[in-house]
Amino acid sequence: MTTPISQTGPIFEAKSYEFQAYRDCPNWIGGEWVPAQSGKTVVVDNPRNGQTIGHVADSDKGDVDAAVASAKAAFPAWRATPMKERVQILFRLKAIMEANIDELSWLLSHENGKLFGESKAEVEKGIECIEMGIACSNMGAGEQMDVSRGVNCKVTHEPLGVIACIAPFNFPTMVPLWMLPQALVAGNTVVIKPSEKVPYGSYKLAWMLKAAGLPDGVFNMVNGAKATVEAIADHPDIKAIGFVGSTKVAHLVYQRGAATGKKVLALGGAKNHLVLVPDADFELATSNIPASAFGCAGQRCMAASVLLAVGTDAEIDPFVARIAEIAAGVRLGEEMGPVIDQAAIARIERYLADAESRGAKIIVDGRGKSVPGGGNWIGTTVIDRVTPDMPAGCEEIFGPVLSIIRVKTLDEAIAIENANEYGNAAAIFTSNGGVAQYAIDRFEAGMCGVNIGVPVPREPFAFGGWNKSKFGDGDLTGFDGFRFFTRPRKVTAKWAKQADQTWMG
Ligand code: NAD
Repeated sequence: MTTPISQTGPIFEAKSYEFQAYRDCPNWIGGEWVPAQSGKTVVVDNPRNGQTIGHVADSDKGDVDAAVASAKAAFPAWRATPMKERVQILFRLKAIMEANIDELSWLLSHENGKLFGESKAEVEKGIECIEMGIACSNMGAGEQMDVSRGVNCKVTHEPLGVIACIAPFNFPTMVPLWMLPQALVAGNTVVIKPSEKVPYGSYKLAWMLKAAGLPDGVFNMVNGAKATVEAIADHPDIKAIGFVGSTKVAHLVYQRGAATGKKVLALGGAKNHLVLVPDADFELATSNIPASAFGCAGQRCMAASVLLAVGTDAEIDPFVARIAEIAAGVRLGEEMGPVIDQAAIARIERYLADAESRGAKIIVDGRGKSVPGGGNWIGTTVIDRVTPDMPAGCEEIFGPVLSIIRVKTLDEAIAIENANEYGNAAAIFTSNGGVAQYAIDRFEAGMCGVNIGVPVPREPFAFGGWNKSKFGDGDLTGFDGFRFFTRPRKVTAKWAKQADQTWMG
């Protein structure tokens, strides 16, 4: 039986977590599906049960060259297309995604492991990013002014040419949509490199953009891993790279891309701190904190990783007891999905063993918890009495683990947050506005929250951290994304000689 082709491409039939194979994911170059020139592929496994969904092309320099050549050839016509016409593609993409949201969400859930509800929320957030891209067509009008008699200056936002987007595994649909709408509306042509662990979000985007009327070559997908990324970073015809992933790779891509003169904005990893002070609303704090730490199995760059609990043990203990109770009650498989692979489990377990050996107390232990049928399972974990110098207290674990550091004062908590090398997010739980403002004014984090465990700025507010959570200037989303994928042209014009000469005469 041949799989029917919908507007989203070959339909993914699953309507539950029950395993469903899909198809192989080649590269999308110039409006054609093509295998990697080497013929190499990488297996894509469903993290829930470890079974193979399909295979993804493993590309090298030759494939990147082909994708860039396709994007370069498509650039003149796409750039010449008025922005008001370009944006129509995004209106249609939004409509297609909304009409097929369940199918897209199930596929996302199967490739990444996150729950169906979390997947649907991701697709919805991706759609909101498309709306932001659409808005750029109205916000992106240039400015102009008569700067002298008969002399006018104007600024226009010009596309860069071929740009590349490189995405991580944890948001297969949303992260590409952090970048694509602004890049396309601005008139660039695109080469995207999804995570080889989760290629199907971008695979579907290729089909849907085609169905929405995007000309061939404007959007290209080249799959693979390290060699593919290095070829992108080095390619002389790529003018900008938007990267999202770990700090180690973000820094590499930033340096390597900049060495060849590219604009690079590289978002990296995180160690997000939540500060809990004794006057915090008990219900609000104890429901938000575990939701932040364990949502998407802790595999969010905005996940709470450290709880800085301020006060005496008598003040802190009731909060910790309730958080532990909620954590222990999370039903694996139903209320929390698996982590991405076995390597992630090994890494998380190393952090737990290390924290234990240094005297921390594991009060909820996710080790050895699983769901029948295979897959990459580890349960929610809460470690109490962590210290900031322990790896569990200062490094990114990227799993469902909450480390609790107890401190006596708010200033002590802020000092620990400030000393951490990352700077993605920080939040405070308090009922006092002055205390909240005091902390927000001092956090070393690009995204701050008050009584919110995952302080993601919604569109039109841009997303991006500080310090080792981001390399480069600006943010990738919101109108900042449009600025990143354009360059300003300044035009000064005079059409007649003026009687009153100035230095411009
Ligand atoms: P990763 O850095 O391993 O991979 C990101 C991308 O880089 C992938 O496309 C991958 O194929 C490629 N890559 C991996 N190793 C490489 C190497 N040595 N050289 C060149 N390219 C390489 O990240 P991940 O594991 O896919 O995603 C999780 C990480 O991403 C976490 O650190 C998380 O905090 C971070 N993240 C950050 C944000 C943010 O906005 N700051 C958002 C999502 C995820």
